[in-house]
Amino acid sequence: MFSDSTSNVHRPDHRIARVWVEPGCRLHDLCVELCPEVFVLENDENNEEKIESVKLLSEAKNHYESHQKQIEDAAYACPVSVIRIQYDDGAIFDGDELKMPDTKPQ
Ligand code: SF4
Repeated sequence: MFSDSTSNVHRPDHRIARVWVEPGCRLHDLCVELCPEVFVLENDENNEEKIESVKLLSEAKNHYESHQKQIEDAAYACPVSVIRIQYDDGAIFDGDELKMPDTKPQ
């Protein structure tokens, strides 16, 4: 489990394999401010004034390595903990905790 220190949310020894946003985003754009290379707010296609969702840019994966710290900061900072990061070892950071993959004996 990570502590309250943001320095502990970073995993420099592991690479990000996947990032996604679970339902429940509050659309206030903190993640976009922290890492605009990966996150973007998407407008309602029927109403350009209305923001409908946060999503990952199509080229987001190209920035996982160069912006790993910013992505981890965004997941940690998200007030409703809906950003997920999966690492190359299968561990998933949910904004609050790092969950290691099951390692049950076969
Ligand atoms: S920080 Fe979290 S709640 Fe805020 S826009 Fe990003 S995903 Fe949504």
